[in-house]
Amino acid sequence: MDGQRFSRQVLLPELGEEGQRRLGEARVLVAGCGGLGTHTASALLRAGVRRLVLVDRDVVEPSNLHRVAAFTQDDVGKPKAQALASYLLRIDPGAEVKPHVAHLGPEEAEAIIPEVDLVVDGLDNLETRYLVNDVCVKHGVPWIYTAVLATYGMTMPIIPEKGPCLRCLFPTLPPAGSLPTCATAGILGPVPQALAALQATLAIQVLLGSSELRPGELVHVDLWARRMSTLAVERASDCPTCGRREFEFLNLDEAAH
Ligand SMILES: [Zn+2]
Repeated sequence: MDGQRFSRQVLLPELGEEGQRRLGEARVLVAGCGGLGTHTASALLRAGVRRLVLVDRDVVEPSNLHRVAAFTQDDVGKPKAQALASYLLRIDPGAEVKPHVAHLGPEEAEAIIPEVDLVVDGLDNLETRYLVNDVCVKHGVPWIYTAVLATYGMTMPIIPEKGPCLRCLFPTLPPAGSLPTCATAGILGPVPQALAALQATLAIQVLLGSSELRPGELVHVDLWARRMSTLAVERASDCPTCGRREFEFLNLDEAAH
């Protein structure tokens, strides 16, 4: 069955049979199961990444349906992680999909992240992204930062030791509530799908160890303006996370509990 399933993909010289085998062995954490996370998970599973861990504490709401292809009216009220797992298992019943209906706090992040090969971003807040960044840098696990808002989004692969981390890009956490979110500024339906497609492509490159991957290359896309641009983010020599290895967000949350 799998020979047929991936027959169009193994034709690509970028993958081949060996690349396809690597994808099948990889384990990926999907942090957050909203628009970004669901489309990324679906793209990765369909590409042959068959071991996925899904984390989200929320339930599906009617306001999610305009941008999340995996959810239908029937899923309203169900935990997102479980609804996504059911959807993914309908694509590939042999996949190993583990849903966790929980907030991704320091305990969960420390338990799950060292066990995976990569973390992809489906989060809706910067604070949890800083936590993921701390744990990924601490354990040397690659992750992909991706965010969407209104009609645009951005994504950047973070490969510990080989490029900048999230705090090299955004050194300080803005005060809670000061940044616009999809709930306050809105989000155009197709935007998460587009950014998830970029994120899934970067994820495949990370898992293949592709020489085409550029750690720290920030890609910005505005769908409404039909514009895509890239920026090479430098590693900050005084970065508290990847420079001094202080892991403030991991320890801050632990101290508060
Ligand atoms: Zn850094």
